Amino acid sequence: MKYFDVVIIGSGPAGAAAAFKLAEKGISVAIIEKETLPRYKTCGGGFVYRGVKMLPFDITEVAEREFYKVDTLIGKDFHFITERDQPVITMVMRDTFDSFLVKKVTEKGGTVIDNCKLTGLTSEGENVVLSTTHEEIKTRFVIAADGALSPTAKMAGWEKETRHLIPALEYEVEVSEADFERLSKSVRFDIDAIPGGYAWNFPKKNHLSIGVASGKRTKINLKQYYQEYLSNTLKIDNVISEVQHGFQIPVTPRTDGFVKNNVFLVGDAAGFADPVTAEGISNSIYSGMLVADAIAESDLDVKKAELIYMDKLEEKLLPEIKTGILLSKFLYDQPKIRNLFMKKYGQGAFEAMTDVFMGKRSYPADIMKTLKRRAKELLFS
Ligand SMILES: Cc1cc2nc3c(=O)[nH]c(=O)nc-3n(C[C@H](O)[C@H](O)[C@H](O)COP(=O)(O)OP(=O)(O)OC[C@H]3O[C@@H](n4cnc5c(N)ncnc54)[C@H](O)[C@@H]3O)c2cc1C
Repeated sequence: MKYFDVVIIGSGPAGAAAAFKLAEKGISVAIIEKETLPRYKTCGGGFVYRGVKMLPFDITEVAEREFYKVDTLIGKDFHFITERDQPVITMVMRDTFDSFLVKKVTEKGGTVIDNCKLTGLTSEGENVVLSTTHEEIKTRFVIAADGALSPTAKMAGWEKETRHLIPALEYEVEVSEADFERLSKSVRFDIDAIPGGYAWNFPKKNHLSIGVASGKRTKINLKQYYQEYLSNTLKIDNVISEVQHGFQIPVTPRTDGFVKNNVFLVGDAAGFADPVTAEGISNSIYSGMLVADAIAESDLDVKKAELIYMDKLEEKLLPEIKTGILLSKFLYDQPKIRNLFMKKYGQGAFEAMTDVFMGKRSYPADIMKTLKRRAKELLFS
């Protein structure tokens, strides 16, 4: 039976980032991936600069477009434009991007086994034996980087779902030359284009990735909101081709831990997407890197690695997500107060948001106090 110190389930950004770091540190690591690579991944492919700058290599060769300017609209009342000297959002297609990351893993000496699905895991002393559609593999550490559905977490004992998963629809859309010319100049978010969420237009090299996501807990017809967005807001009436993909994004972390029985959760499996934007690539990479560092620093001691990983998560990621959850409630669930606030502070708020995208700042821990104080001032002024 093959043995690796670490086996990572899933070759998305969380898995690849963890594998890259582990391989770089000389730890034996394998990724197993159920799909044949490269594989399509339902995603807008908007990769914010805070994630880009975490990677120790250049990604220009897999960048479809780079946007230095972001347009954020709230209904018809507000349009905020923010601009930076570095690309705020780099557009990628996830099949190419993820394969590029995986190539970096193999270049560092990591093993990648695709078309190989994890089907079970069993404890064996200090180790875990993984059953897969290929063969059995023995390992000390399992990193579950297998995305929103995370079958690994279920197999390892996370029985109850404690993350809040939001539905999202994403379309790869080919439009006329004139519409492409008109709509491909900027990356655009439209808050309120769908109740409790937003719609986006992310231009790629030759097509548009357009989608909608909503945090509403009641059933919502995403397709209808997408179609309204297309015709009423983007004013596209000639769709040449359109491919629909739907999936879920976990926008709150699990509340029942991130480590169990030698299994460490990262990325969407843990619920680490940004609660405000549902942007998940950068925190997937970040958490993948944190777990790799924790394992290396523990000298392959599972208990020590768990403590170190938890400390690292508590340092920045978890507090930032906690504040993000409150902020998203303010942004999506309180339209009246929010709009009042936006009139006076909107541009400043989206400048701060852009700084978060750039990795220049976190969501401030005392944000709710500030928002409440300012809302009161506005109401009583
Ligand atoms: C519609 C939509 C739009 C989005 N847009 C954006 C965006 O523009 N920007 C952004 O930053 N984020 C976006 N996200 C979120 C982003 O896609 C995720 O947060 C991110 O992909 C999570 O990365 P990950 O590595 O944790 O998991 P994933 O990228 O989901 O990778 C998990 C991998 O595990 C594999 N796997 C699953 N089960 C098994 C198994 N049993 N055995 C072996 N392998 C397995 C899967 O095949 C997959 O390759 C979007 C999500 C959706 C649904």
